Amino acid sequence: MALFSKDIQTLDDLFVHQLKDIYYAENRILKNLPSMMEKASNPELKQGFQTHLRETEGQVERLKQVFSMHGVEIGSVQCPAIDGILEEADEVASEVEDKQVLDAALIAAAQAVEHYEITRYGSLIAWAQQLGRNDCAAVLQQNLDEEKATDKKLTSLAESRVNRSAA
Ligand code: FE
Ligand code: FE
Ligand code: FE
Repeated sequence: MALFSKDIQTLDDLFVHQLKDIYYAENRILKNLPSMMEKASNPELKQGFQTHLRETEGQVERLKQVFSMHGVEIGSVQCPAIDGILEEADEVASEVEDKQVLDAALIAAAQAVEHYEITRYGSLIAWAQQLGRNDCAAVLQQNLDEEKATDKKLTSLAESRVNRSAA
């Protein structure tokens, strides 16, 4: 056995680690959504960001609930992936002059965020079920459903209006 053992030994450790990762990510997203909202011009897009801001507040609460159901302290580990996605989003947005093109860029950035969340929640739910924590899986599923619905709304907004206005 190694003298210094690694932090993640079991599937349970991995579950808790990734729970902390998505907790960090949701909190960063929560802080970022107001600026996305501000930058958006299309009223439906603005409204969409506003709605998802409220949902994200609820998602953070659900994650706290999962920590407590699983008997672990609420905590964060830095998620370089979400930091990078948000940094890239800011960078691209700052390069765009035209308001309509900016809306298209904001949708693309938001969808990158949703897709990250979807992949994380997918694994967390599968691991929770494997660990016999269907109770945790059910709560995480509510977050996953909201991310998927948000992603779909963004796609239809882009395809029905925003991309055409940008072109
Ligand atoms: Fe979320
Ligand atoms: Fe991460
Ligand atoms: Fe989301």
